[in-house]
Amino acid sequence: MRVDVLTLFPEMFDGVFNASILGKARDKGIVSLQAVNFRQYAGNKHGQVDDTPYGGGGGMVLKPDPIFAAVEALLDKSEQSTFEAAEHNADIKTPRIILMCPQGETFTQKKAEELAKEDHLIFICGHYEGYDERIREHLVTDELSIGDYVLTGGELPSMVVIDSVTRLLPGVLGNETSAVTDSFSTGLLEYPHYTRPAEFRGWKVPDVLLSGHHVNIDSWRRQEALRRTMERRPDLLEQAELTSKERAWIEEQHQSDSSRDKR
Ligand code: SAM
Repeated sequence: MRVDVLTLFPEMFDGVFNASILGKARDKGIVSLQAVNFRQYAGNKHGQVDDTPYGGGGGMVLKPDPIFAAVEALLDKSEQSTFEAAEHNADIKTPRIILMCPQGETFTQKKAEELAKEDHLIFICGHYEGYDERIREHLVTDELSIGDYVLTGGELPSMVVIDSVTRLLPGVLGNETSAVTDSFSTGLLEYPHYTRPAEFRGWKVPDVLLSGHHVNIDSWRRQEALRRTMERRPDLLEQAELTSKERAWIEEQHQSDSSRDKR
């Protein structure tokens, strides 16, 4: 996968792109990660990329021309022709051009899984008050928010998305199955983990995990994942794929909770 980030602060990405799992994925050639300063596409001698808003008011707005020019410069020849055709046909695939924006679709594990199937992602990081609306309307394929709060720029949010997408690429995580049981991948929160020692300050690891009986361990883990999701994120249960036995177990837990509350 190729990932390009358009930013005014490329130096912010040095640590994140070179360390830990992302750094290793890059070294193995699974992903190419580059941060590009779009000021070089300003097209004026002062390198000006923002301007005051039409209609007045505070704050500066990112101009469309440097962002369009930077994206177009990042496209390879085959992408260039699909990009031009896509302007007239929404069904034609171009690289995903992702605007980081608090007003966008909230980023989820499902979205990470969808983006992990792409060959080329281009992220646009805003700063200042906002973007010229024509960037949103005529350039990007996705607008992503990492949550209902406002940061100073799109750099940290894009790092969050890039990290979660990269770890899903085949060969990035040592143990391929470790992303499969992660919270949200299964539709549930993940079950609790324990490691040595078997007893720590009097707190014991559940017996079943020491039993070596894999069928029992799997069913304990599934039940604990259900319990944890029910307690912390009951909203997830509506969408999760559950057996009728599991739905009945959840119902039972609700009933015993409500009869306990009445007492
Ligand atoms: N005035 C904008 C608004 O109210 O929607 C907020 C601009 S914010 C100060 C500057 C930039 O930070 C945004 O353009 C975006 O790139 C990034 N940003 C801030 N919060 C974000 C979030 N929750 N998710 C994604 N990007 C965010």
